[in-house]
Amino acid sequence: MMTGDEYRRSLDDGRETYFEGQPVIDIAKHPMLGITVDSAAAGYDRFYDPTPGAVGAFMHVPGSAKELREQVELHETVDLLTHVTYASIMTLLTAADRIEATLPENAARIRAWVAEAQRRDVRITQCITDSKGDRSRRPSQQDDPDHYVRVVARRDDGIVIRGAKLHISAASMGHELMTIPTKSMKSGEEQYSVACMVPVNAPGVKIINTTYAPRHHDTRDFPISGRHHTPEGFVIFDDVFVPNERVFLDGNPELAGIFAHSLGLWERLGGLSSMATRYEALVGFAQLISEANGLDRVGHIKEKISEMLINATLIRATLEAAIENCHVTSDGAAFPDELYTNAGKYHGAANWSLMVRHLHDIGGGSILTAPGHADFENRQVGHLARKYMGTMQSVDGLYRTRLFHAIRDLTADALGGWNAVTNIQAGGGLYAQRIVSRLHYDMDRAKETALRTGHMEEFIGKV
Ligand SMILES: Cc1cc2nc3c(=O)[nH]c(=O)nc-3n(C[C@H](O)[C@H](O)[C@H](O)COP(=O)(O)OP(=O)(O)OC[C@H]3O[C@@H](n4cnc5c(N)ncnc54)[C@H](O)[C@@H]3O)c2cc1C
Repeated sequence: MMTGDEYRRSLDDGRETYFEGQPVIDIAKHPMLGITVDSAAAGYDRFYDPTPGAVGAFMHVPGSAKELREQVELHETVDLLTHVTYASIMTLLTAADRIEATLPENAARIRAWVAEAQRRDVRITQCITDSKGDRSRRPSQQDDPDHYVRVVARRDDGIVIRGAKLHISAASMGHELMTIPTKSMKSGEEQYSVACMVPVNAPGVKIINTTYAPRHHDTRDFPISGRHHTPEGFVIFDDVFVPNERVFLDGNPELAGIFAHSLGLWERLGGLSSMATRYEALVGFAQLISEANGLDRVGHIKEKISEMLINATLIRATLEAAIENCHVTSDGAAFPDELYTNAGKYHGAANWSLMVRHLHDIGGGSILTAPGHADFENRQVGHLARKYMGTMQSVDGLYRTRLFHAIRDLTADALGGWNAVTNIQAGGGLYAQRIVSRLHYDMDRAKETALRTGHMEEFIGKV
């Protein structure tokens, strides 16, 4: 396994990555992107085990509801890169299971690659979302055929791919790009039915980074995003060669959707689990700021917080149900229940804006305008800021200000905007979560229940 420092050094591998129009020469030392590298390096140090052949505890494949719960709880405490590596490994193993019957050799190739990746202790990011061009047209009908990643040449020893994958979390900080189709493909779309592993430093891979990291020089005013932030990568495959042993699907359009569906499950479980924690935090902030404002006993404030905590409880309940109703495969791996995972993630994403609306309504304008830490340290105005930001003897002005900073950072500034969009889009958007929920919902049972309720038993099984 690698230590944090070995991980830092491993990134000096000739990768071509850009930030704000400039090439990034040393990503580990970059003033902004380097902070994400530090978080990932801390993850390496945390899980480091010098025993030969050891595999990080975060990689453990759960075999029961209890182990799945332990993994989910563990992943709540790890950096994003470590988490997406786990989700990628689980995706690959899930997909191997699902393609086994048709492509046993490819399934074996995936499992061999996973074992090797665990041995090398590399970090993997997930390249699914294509640039997609005109959304109303199929990949093969685009004006520009490169809007979905595709195979442009075949050689005896591998394939050459071209295209771009967008919004890829932490792409520049990992070692491997798990490149899989964004959706199901149809006959005639063989060139787009490609799943493979691409090293970040492969010739032809170019990554443009964007980030919600605070640009303010005093990061104390950004208590959440100032400590950890993760850039998204715009990943371009400019005719990249991929050797055969790294190609998991090439052709077989009927199997293309399996990879994205397998990923969706793990992505949404991760999303649901962090949503459960974030919802709790929003309730906590609403209660704390209402107490600091002296309004916690007022009727309309209590009503809003009650609605928030009911939502938070429902999100937590779906997470519990997804874990408790997990399915164990013949290989002994436990998978969360699809319906609870997707329905919970959907509810959380769809109601995030309502939760934030209540919090903003309860908190007041200082969410945006509370003075910064440096103002509190100023000899002329600091004591006055503290005096007027305080509300009563038991509520110190700086404490209340720090609550406002945290609320602004989480919900109303760059990270806040990122949360608002990401909660909805990540894992495929609300639409995708609705489709998957519908797919796994027992509609026959619902119809039967309706017919029984209406005393129309004679129609059961006939309509
Ligand atoms: C911060 C962030 C991090 C992300 N991380 C990753 C990552 O690590 N890896 C990764 O692969 N992706 C990642 N995503 C991408 C995410 O999965 C996509 O944003 C999402 O799938 C939507 O795709 P899009 O952004 O291209 O939007 P669009 O596809 O343009 O969707 C916009 C809207 O149009 C609808 N729509 C699109 N096409 C159709 C159609 N044919 N018919 C009907 N409705 C349609 C969608 O449902 C949606 O409501 C991330 C996104 C964000 C914001």
